[in-house]
Amino acid sequence: MELVDTHCHLQFDAFDEDRDAVVERALEAGVSKILTLATDCESSYRVLELVERYPSVYAAVGIHPTDAHKAQPGDVEKIAELAKHPKVVAIGEIGLDLYWDTSTLDVQKDMFLQMLRLAAERDLPVVIHNRRAGKEILQVLDQVAGLPLRGVFHCFSEGKTYADDVVRRGFYISFTGNLTYRKSKLPDVAKHVPEERLLLETDSPFMTPVPMRGKRNEPAFVQYIAEKHAELRDMDPAEIARITTENAQALFGWSSGTA
Ligand SMILES: [Zn+2]
Repeated sequence: MELVDTHCHLQFDAFDEDRDAVVERALEAGVSKILTLATDCESSYRVLELVERYPSVYAAVGIHPTDAHKAQPGDVEKIAELAKHPKVVAIGEIGLDLYWDTSTLDVQKDMFLQMLRLAAERDLPVVIHNRRAGKEILQVLDQVAGLPLRGVFHCFSEGKTYADDVVRRGFYISFTGNLTYRKSKLPDVAKHVPEERLLLETDSPFMTPVPMRGKRNEPAFVQYIAEKHAELRDMDPAEIARITTENAQALFGWSSGTA
């Protein structure tokens, strides 16, 4: 069974003690590829160190909405340069976040737009972070409706109507460990998403799925997300793995198997 983890932050301190073992455990669990996402200019350099070190690791470079206010003049240009690396397969993580009160909406929107334009220029997909900013994100996408954009709404937490809108716009959807939480309303939404639009992710080190809840999350745990989707759809986990891996390959330009 071949799986991919389309969203984690392998560069975070949480993995400093055992990063080699984390990548190894993922491979043992059948995770052939791991996409690690930068959150600012500095971590965009850091993710490139990791892709050089680990054959199964790929990167997204970009500036996260909660870090938008810290961006320095020239950062966007630096990220545009880094995006030329052959193992950079997306611009991310980018988007809007109205939960954490760090960057103002105007600053976030401005950065989001710059990142979307960069993605279009480089012909790369985008990985979108949305926290309590669903409406505003669609407004920004409407503003740049002429750009050839593709990508994924990660850590999806909206309802079915919103999912329909995202799918209609040609984007993919992925759920994290919160899909497995006991009182979650997300299973209903997940079942509703067409399988050809689903991706798997962990968002590790955060959002640990059941039955590992309470521990640090890691890419190997993406198997539990696959199992949850399989249970919800009454499908074989291997079938969910096959479909979501093919979806990720189509979006990020990956070939099958381990690099
Ligand atoms: Zn993330």
